[in-house]
Amino acid sequence: MDEALRELVRRRAGERCEYCLLPQPAARFFSFHVEHIRAKQHGGQDVESNLALACPDCNAHKGPNLTSIDPLTDSVVPIFNPRTEKWWDHFVHQGAIILGVSAIGRATAELLNMNETERVEMRQVLLANGEW
Ligand SMILES: [Zn+2]
Repeated sequence: MDEALRELVRRRAGERCEYCLLPQPAARFFSFHVEHIRAKQHGGQDVESNLALACPDCNAHKGPNLTSIDPLTDSVVPIFNPRTEKWWDHFVHQGAIILGVSAIGRATAELLNMNETERVEMRQVLLANGEW
């Protein structure tokens, strides 16, 4: 993947994680990843339509997964695709907590461990500073 493509993905994302909306400038000690929505392992390509900007936490928990379990219905559903879906159709936040409002949102929030204590605490600080 060339640097121009990485830069395009970062700019398009507004320097925010496309899953949890964490802003890169607020995460001073780690660099966000340009990740494959459909992992290479599953035939995903290095093309704009298959790439997203993700913080290290979201990227590590997502791994090569394409689906997860909706905790409400216990059914297998696709996870959120930031290229083809809108964040606000699947998630809301109540303060620093991210809630899934669809099967996709619930399954993705759970898989990506979006409400792990340290992550919520970081978002609380960012919210207080007007950075999230
Ligand atoms: Zn994230």
